Amino acid sequence: MRIFDPHIHMTSRTTDDYERMAAAGVRAVVEPAFWLGQPRTSAATFVDYFDSLIGWEPFRAGQFGVRHHATVALNPKEANDPRCHPVLDLLPRYLDKDGVVAVGEIGYDSMTPAEDAAFAAQLALAVGHDLPALVHTPHRDKARGVERSLAVVTESGIDPGRVLVDHLNEVTVKLVRDTGCWLGFSIYPDTKMTPGRMVELLKTYGTERMLVNSAADWGRSDPLLTRATGEAMLLAGFTDDDVDRVLWRNPVEFYGQSGRLDLGDLDTPAATFAGNSILRGGE
Ligand SMILES: [Zn+2]
Repeated sequence: MRIFDPHIHMTSRTTDDYERMAAAGVRAVVEPAFWLGQPRTSAATFVDYFDSLIGWEPFRAGQFGVRHHATVALNPKEANDPRCHPVLDLLPRYLDKDGVVAVGEIGYDSMTPAEDAAFAAQLALAVGHDLPALVHTPHRDKARGVERSLAVVTESGIDPGRVLVDHLNEVTVKLVRDTGCWLGFSIYPDTKMTPGRMVELLKTYGTERMLVNSAADWGRSDPLLTRATGEAMLLAGFTDDDVDRVLWRNPVEFYGQSGRLDLGDLDTPAATFAGNSILRGGE
């Protein structure tokens, strides 16, 4: 089973995770920029964060045979903090980088006017830079959040086929299914979707434009739930080809629209990054 996790925050994970993911078949990941769990105090700290998303983290992933790409954005939660707004002016420089395959994650957290403004501005950046967009949907008041997100997407003029609407469930899948957008599902250990519930959705809605991710981060989460979902699909009678479509070909097709997805030569990692290896001391 080859697996592409289209949404995972590897910066918050350990090398043990990379080893277990590689052993489970995860060959590629996309890491969206998001918040750190505590507020950033200035836009300057995003510079170091984005630099690590396109520098150190891809290098670290490569040591385990995992290809790493990133999406960059001002995340919905921090769109509410005026200290972070200047990051919008930094984004164009990162959206031109090779390892950046979409604008994201953008969208709504609490559906405030500040989030409206950041969401629309960043969809415009996606259009301007000819990149796909990864849209986070709120964890509270989900249906209204998805409806409003879809309205903003339509208003932006971006091609819906270049938009991935993420963190969907049984209720919100219905709202997105016929919009032309791609559908993302985050499988968590004890909240939101489970592998079993995901399989039921795939039975109902099919495999087209459906993406499964672990969204693993600094909270309780499990980077192997993509694999568990693939196994649950097989047990439920889906074919190897169905699993490959959901866990590999769909994310490749979606992020491939950036023109920057590089999945060649996963077996020859770089020796060092900026003079450092993952062995302490740089040897
Ligand atoms: Zn996320």
